[in-house]
Amino acid sequence: MSSIPSYHALLVRSHTRADAALIQAGTNLKVIGRAGVGTDNIDVEAATRNGIVVMNSPTGNTVSAAEHTLTMILALSRNIALANASLREGRWERSAFTGVEVYGKTLGILGLGRIGTEVARRARGFGMKILGVDPYISHGAAEKLSVQLVGLPDLIKNSDYITVHIPLTQDTHHLFGAEEFAAMKRGVRIVNCARGGIFDEVALRESIQSGHCAGAALDVFENEPEIDPDLVGLPNVLATPHLGASTAEAQENISIEIATQCLNALRGKPVQNAINLPSVDARTLEVLGPYLQLAEKMGSLQAQLIDATIHEVIVEYTGGLFDKNVTPVTVAVQKGLLSPALPELVNYVNAPFYMQQRGIRVTETRSSSHDVFANLLTVTVRTDKGDRLISGTVFGRELRLVMLDDYHVSATPDGGMLLVYNNDQPGAIGVIGTLLGKHGINIADMSVGREGPGGRAVMLINVDGIVPRELIHELQSQKQINSVRFVVLPAL
Ligand code: NAD
Repeated sequence: MSSIPSYHALLVRSHTRADAALIQAGTNLKVIGRAGVGTDNIDVEAATRNGIVVMNSPTGNTVSAAEHTLTMILALSRNIALANASLREGRWERSAFTGVEVYGKTLGILGLGRIGTEVARRARGFGMKILGVDPYISHGAAEKLSVQLVGLPDLIKNSDYITVHIPLTQDTHHLFGAEEFAAMKRGVRIVNCARGGIFDEVALRESIQSGHCAGAALDVFENEPEIDPDLVGLPNVLATPHLGASTAEAQENISIEIATQCLNALRGKPVQNAINLPSVDARTLEVLGPYLQLAEKMGSLQAQLIDATIHEVIVEYTGGLFDKNVTPVTVAVQKGLLSPALPELVNYVNAPFYMQQRGIRVTETRSSSHDVFANLLTVTVRTDKGDRLISGTVFGRELRLVMLDDYHVSATPDGGMLLVYNNDQPGAIGVIGTLLGKHGINIADMSVGREGPGGRAVMLINVDGIVPRELIHELQSQKQINSVRFVVLPAL
């Protein structure tokens, strides 16, 4: 700790804790770099308070992780681990290890980000047909990769191999459970070199034991480093201890990447992969600050409601306040929109780059006045399945959502929110209140928008805590309710 004040930059890996006390001691610190992705070991808030840029280096291990995935697919298909173990025990067994070719098979890739894209390129070289799911990739970008974009149910139904390259979030946790395994092709092979917990390990084990799933190749586990021996011990499970990024080249790439970024930051060059640095000057922040927050929350809400491929995002500015430079607000929408999909990656600096890379057009429009609100921000997202519009405004410093598609609402975009689409009938609110109460979930605030008496309606309910999936299913099964979504908006 005593040597910290003499340094301007601190580089850490995952084990060194850069906590508030250490940051406080760094009187000369300008930048903290994490060699790798996760920044849980850094007190980012304390760093921000002290004006220190925190950055990570998320791209250096992409090729290694993609190569590991292909290694796993091939090794699983040809029983390499079992055959090797048997030979070492002195046996010469050939017929027991007859494998399958990957040529001509269908590979379903969930998540066409950096690693998913590299996996697609390499799998194509092996003559595989590739189906992909990623709401943030346009058809044009997928076509260039020879990937056919489909919906998740089609990927599940038609793939011989399913590999995931998505982050683990509230939405992707147990994305594949018993129901999804049952819907897969008999003989499917599963690959997870992304994050443990995306596949429900119990459902995966049962599917393998029943013979429906022909095998799994796993680099990551729900409770790693604890592993389920009943799963990993199955003969047709091939497992490695989170080795995706463990190559000499990846370690070197990451070290060079973070060192270069830190030097750039210290030399006043554009900052890359900053976790905590909005590129907004103080004056803009003062005038547009609440709209930056509103924009990010509206983007996040849009992202969490999307279930189709996004083509375009239209950000409409109404009112005199927006005569100023609104680019940071448009960037905040993009950051919010990408954050649920790229939680460890996206920031104010790179959000427009990632939108462009994904082939999503962003359009700014302006109109001078609105008949109700002095200033209004409207974000429309165009997808395969239609448009969704959300408008919001700021009263004083209070953020408000005022339109959701055709519904007028008045809701605070904050924390956990339930969106309940229902028929406007007496008793609907009571049913929801009772069910939430039964599960110990407190309602903090609520807004109702409706077409008219007896028509379709939407309720935006702010709740304390997380609404579990079972409760969402229970709400959905009520006759007054048409659909339910639960979203969590970022605290900014
Ligand atoms: P990335 O951020 O570049 O790509 C993730 C992609 O997933 C994005 O394109 C995003 O749009 C998409 N996505 C997010 N949610 C989705 C959903 N519900 N359905 C479909 N697509 C969705 O990330 P990356 O660098 O390619 O990494 C992918 C995963 O691999 C991450 O979980 C990362 O932590 C993991 N990883 C593992 C290792 C390892 O050692 N095994 C190494 C590196 C990365």
